[in-house]
Amino acid sequence: MMNHNKIIALKDPKLKKIRENLREIIFQAVMDREDQLIELMEKEDRDTEEGYERYHELEEKKLELDRAMRYSTVTCPACNFGLLRDVKFNTYDKCWYCLECYNTIRLAYRIRQEDIERGMDVDRDYDEEYAHSFLD
Ligand SMILES: [Zn+2]
Repeated sequence: MMNHNKIIALKDPKLKKIRENLREIIFQAVMDREDQLIELMEKEDRDTEEGYERYHELEEKKLELDRAMRYSTVTCPACNFGLLRDVKFNTYDKCWYCLECYNTIRLAYRIRQEDIERGMDVDRDYDEEYAHSFLD
């Protein structure tokens, strides 16, 4: 049981600035590396067996970086932004959301529950378990 209900919130403006800079540096480094990988992928001739293999190795490296970013505190998976924001851990998908998105998803869930209680018609194409996890 790690990170349950964990929030990373900073009050000190100096620390906030440091966090912002570090996230920016990491974000930029990852984006640069992904650009390099995409460039290398485009050079591979996928009609040959070796080219095809190398292409997929490069693609796998890129996906690994995508995953690392998704589970990091660098960007929020909902708004893809969040660089400047405080973040909160969601135990359902194990991702860090910026507090703005976290609270918005929670509010949307509550409004939906109220609509259901009032007997209103709601969207059925909805991930109940995911949304419910934001009540933590
Ligand atoms: Zn967000």
